[in-house]
Amino acid sequence: MNFHIMTLFPDMVMDGLRTSILGRAQENGLISMTAWNIRDYTLDKHNKVDDYPYGGGAGMLMQAQPVYDTYRAICQKIGAEKPRVIFLSPKGQTFHQQMAKDLAREEHLIFLCGHYEGIDQRVLDKIVTDEVSIGDYVLTGGELPAMVMIDAISRMVPGVLTNAESGVSESFSEDLLEYPQYTRPEVWEEESVPAILLSGDHAKVDAWRLEQSKEITKIRRPEMFERYMETHPEPVRKKRRRK
Ligand code: SAM
Repeated sequence: MNFHIMTLFPDMVMDGLRTSILGRAQENGLISMTAWNIRDYTLDKHNKVDDYPYGGGAGMLMQAQPVYDTYRAICQKIGAEKPRVIFLSPKGQTFHQQMAKDLAREEHLIFLCGHYEGIDQRVLDKIVTDEVSIGDYVLTGGELPAMVMIDAISRMVPGVLTNAESGVSESFSEDLLEYPQYTRPEVWEEESVPAILLSGDHAKVDAWRLEQSKEITKIRRPEMFERYMETHPEPVRKKRRRK
């Protein structure tokens, strides 16, 4: 899985992605990250990459030429004609866990980070295959959203998480939020760990966790809970006949 990030701030992206689990995954060759500095591809003699928007309005726009030439350089490097290009944008489809899972199957993913007021629409129309938002708020640039997506996608690449870090029973893994978890000590500030977790009865622990997950999801994310119930209908209990 190879991530290519088109950005005006390559250090920001690379510094943020080289620690902990993602750092280890890169050292083990499971994922690779390359930041491509869009400014390196400008033909402007003053290294300019932005200009005023036609029609007026606030702020500056990134120009089409440097973005397109960066894209062409990546295509040439990876030997791809029309690779998947994700433009980070508040106008895009909202990112979610299933999208992370699906994208983790690609060999190459290119992320295009906007800055200032955004990017000239003509180059977006030419190269972007997916427009993705990380939520309904506006950030100063696409670098943090790209890092958020790369983190979530990388965790879905086989081998990136060890068994101990496994994402199998995490929030969203089955349209449910995760159950509460506890570690040592058994009693902290006079609060005890739920007794069932100390029982050693794995079936009972699993059942308790599932109930907790359902309860939390029902309260916090009713629309997700509804989806869960549609795919996991409760077994119909037969009424006992009175003798
Ligand atoms: N003028 C744009 C608008 O109103 O949609 C916002 C531009 S924003 C200041 C600069 C860049 O940050 C965007 O081009 C995009 O790449 C990135 N960005 C900001 N908020 C984002 C979000 N919620 N999700 C993904 N990218 C975002």
